[in-house]
Amino acid sequence: MKKRLFALMMASMMVMGAMVGCGGGGSDAPAPTEGDETQTEGDAAEGSADMSNVEIGVCIYKFDDTFMTGVRNNMQAQADTLGAKIELVDSQNKQATQNDQVDTFITKGMTALAVNPVDRTAAGPLVEKASAAGLPIVFLNREPEPDVMQSYDKVWYVGAKAEESGTMSGEIIADYWNANKETADKNGDGKLQYIMVTGEPGHQDATLRTEYSVKALEAAGIEVEEIGNDTAMWDKVKATELMNAFITSQGIDSIEAVLCNNDDMALGVIESLKANGYNTGDASKFVPVVGVDATAPALEAMSNGSLLGTVLNDAENQGIATTNIAAMAAAGQEITQDTVGYEITDGKYVWVPYVKITAENYKDFQ
Ligand code: BGC
Ligand code: CA
Repeated sequence: MKKRLFALMMASMMVMGAMVGCGGGGSDAPAPTEGDETQTEGDAAEGSADMSNVEIGVCIYKFDDTFMTGVRNNMQAQADTLGAKIELVDSQNKQATQNDQVDTFITKGMTALAVNPVDRTAAGPLVEKASAAGLPIVFLNREPEPDVMQSYDKVWYVGAKAEESGTMSGEIIADYWNANKETADKNGDGKLQYIMVTGEPGHQDATLRTEYSVKALEAAGIEVEEIGNDTAMWDKVKATELMNAFITSQGIDSIEAVLCNNDDMALGVIESLKANGYNTGDASKFVPVVGVDATAPALEAMSNGSLLGTVLNDAENQGIATTNIAAMAAAGQEITQDTVGYEITDGKYVWVPYVKITAENYKDFQ
């Protein structure tokens, strides 16, 4: 019974991996059919992947982050599916706290670690701790430097290529501009005056989304002028305050678009616009705003027309991939697409694809 269940689970994981490939991950593994539950690969993993000693200690940079809450809920759910133990702790945005939590996990005898670093440049000492204890360590969402990734054979990273999300969010604004030339260019100077609201400085997603969203506008042949750029630290309330300040200093009608590195900040910007009578349904009072993540409240904002678009940052597949790698490594499995269900790049990386979310397809993600 157990054997059959596990084989089915492996098959479904491989289906998921293949789906990830279809979305742009580059996998060409065929989706297994029903009969595949008897295939030799599934059996090989099944024979040795005993989850009874798997205990995954997980540190999340802070629990109070909308996107990471989605990821950690999926990690918990996947551990339950696998029958693996998991303990998730809140690092409260303090690297020193996270370091202590890793020490505690090791002392308690956990058999795998998964870490969403507070400071991605501080991953090196965590790898040293894992390596001294002989434990696998999987980083997620905040990418360690390449030399840290190479410093130990049992370190992996699960994330998404931030360039992709930057490009997609820029394209959403470019399409709007090109489709609404008359009204979108509010001052009629032929240039797009935009505001950039960025995530935490030093986070690869903040740096690259910013850079690639502007590149996408330029690649679409649009002349751009940045009239404001500041961080709101991924945070909705901070973004509202920032947007209030920009509206006061620039005047609301000089703002022709707002590009935000994530949805929470886009929703914060929209709060500010709404308080000024914009983005509430009157087409003559609209500022196009774009985010990244495709959180539930962002999709809701798309359905009422206050948010122009977003990009799916796939919390589900990032959570599942992280848990699968940690569990399989703890169970002594080799980490391959067959054992974890996701393509492994350079032996260490899982890149989960982003998806552009517009008025045409947002309903499919709600
Ligand atoms: C997400 C943000 C989140 C951040 C946390 C990013 O990938 O887009 O919403 O706050 O990760 O590290
Ligand atoms: Ca203009």
